[in-house]
Amino acid sequence: MTAIAARVLRYSIYPVVFGGAVVALIAGATHGVPYARFGPIVLLTSTMVIIALERWWPHARAWQRDQGDAATDVLHLVGNVVVSQASVAGFVALRGIRGEQFIVWPSHASMALQIVFATLLVDLGLYAVHRASHGIGFLWKLHAIHHSPRRVYWVNGQRRHLVHELMEGTPALVVLLALGAPASAYACAIAIVTVHLMFQHGNVDYRVGPLRHVFAVAELHRWHHQRLWRDVQGNYGAILSIWDRAFGTALQKQGDAPLDVGMDDEPDLPTDWAGQQLWPFRRRRAREVGRQEA
Ligand SMILES: [Zn+2]
Repeated sequence: MTAIAARVLRYSIYPVVFGGAVVALIAGATHGVPYARFGPIVLLTSTMVIIALERWWPHARAWQRDQGDAATDVLHLVGNVVVSQASVAGFVALRGIRGEQFIVWPSHASMALQIVFATLLVDLGLYAVHRASHGIGFLWKLHAIHHSPRRVYWVNGQRRHLVHELMEGTPALVVLLALGAPASAYACAIAIVTVHLMFQHGNVDYRVGPLRHVFAVAELHRWHHQRLWRDVQGNYGAILSIWDRAFGTALQKQGDAPLDVGMDDEPDLPTDWAGQQLWPFRRRRAREVGRQEA
């Protein structure tokens, strides 16, 4: 491949694949197609493309290898996709109960705008819970699981404690329900976040140029996976990096982050899925005694 072709590919991956997924979701909702008939197809297609890109166009060859984390990651992926899709079903059910009273949602706007608005609220909710999770002890214990792997690849976006998954999604769900947002806008917003989390963690050699000042892409997020807790207090955005810029939490880093990732400050974090689910609820003293005995 020539240098020019490589550059074109590097810069076109994000707008074509992520942008294409967003356009497909908006088109489906705008034409009144039930979400169940287009949402899963968009999610599955995006996943297959990311997997293919990670294989053929990786950012780091070392991150392609299973480091004993793949089985745990698959369980996290299945668990959290079930929770997020259950939240979509729950939104549909609750929206039906809520009815049409006191709607303040801009229902007259185009479906595209409604999806953008819903996605902004979901993204802001994720930013707020993520930021709190780096400052509040118990929330950090839930969130540390996300920081523990020794590589950053597409599944890491769903490597999350089940309780943390519920906590991250609940604020936006409650607000959108209270405002009277349509279920299709909420469902599309969740799908957009899901695809973007794959891109944010994707082991893919893509670039976005100045768009990194707007979108929280992998080249920014890899700095959020460095090995010391003190070095990862920033770049919290899931889709947009503008929250970090607006609220003063953007990490002042340039270029490619070191590939040696993980979380040195939590050495006793289990590597298996069940152990990771139980770990935040173990008493700190018991953990520390266990560490001294080891
Ligand atoms: Zn974090």
